[in-house]
Amino acid sequence: MAKKLVNEVAIKDEMNRYKELLNINNDLSFRINRSNGCGGSYYQNKVVLDLGTAKEWIEHPNRTKYVIVHELVHAKFNETRNPLLSVIVPPGLNLEYLLQELRANTIAYQMLGKNETVLEDYFFEFNKISSNPFHVNGGYLSSDKFVYLIKQNPVWNEQAIVYAINYLTEKYKFIRYLVPKRRKEKIKNQFVKQLEDLPWNLNATTVNFTK
Ligand SMILES: [Zn+2]
Repeated sequence: MAKKLVNEVAIKDEMNRYKELLNINNDLSFRINRSNGCGGSYYQNKVVLDLGTAKEWIEHPNRTKYVIVHELVHAKFNETRNPLLSVIVPPGLNLEYLLQELRANTIAYQMLGKNETVLEDYFFEFNKISSNPFHVNGGYLSSDKFVYLIKQNPVWNEQAIVYAINYLTEKYKFIRYLVPKRRKEKIKNQFVKQLEDLPWNLNATTVNFTK
């Protein structure tokens, strides 16, 4: 059982701490699955961590924390995907997925104290994402692209959103040619509007997230 292998209570406490910092008010359930993967998932108020992620808690707690914050950001914006739209993803929706994943990763970076060592360890030693069309389909850029974009814009704000849309338009033909400008504008506005719900926009001063 997962409970005997990892400190589930400590991980859950940490999740609740971040949940509060992110101003998430709805109830979320938490569990650890048996997968030795290095990720997690969010689906309809349920946050699940892979056992592989939970096991890192002892030796590399920042890896576990990174996934926790990542999934909580999906929870914050209720990003439950329609499973039918995970194999064949229309281009506009794919752009939304890419921005959702980048947002989750950027905010995790912020909340872990904007530490480049933590960022590089997470993407280059733990959750190594290669460049392939299936990953992009799901909103996952390769590790080096995530790291590059996060270093360019270490805070998730309007500038980060616009920068990412321009970058993705330049990198991917399907975004350049198949997502009309007005759709891009709409997606941008939707993500900008959602900035209002983030704690660092609620109080103008910088929020210190580290313990
Ligand atoms: Zn995600």
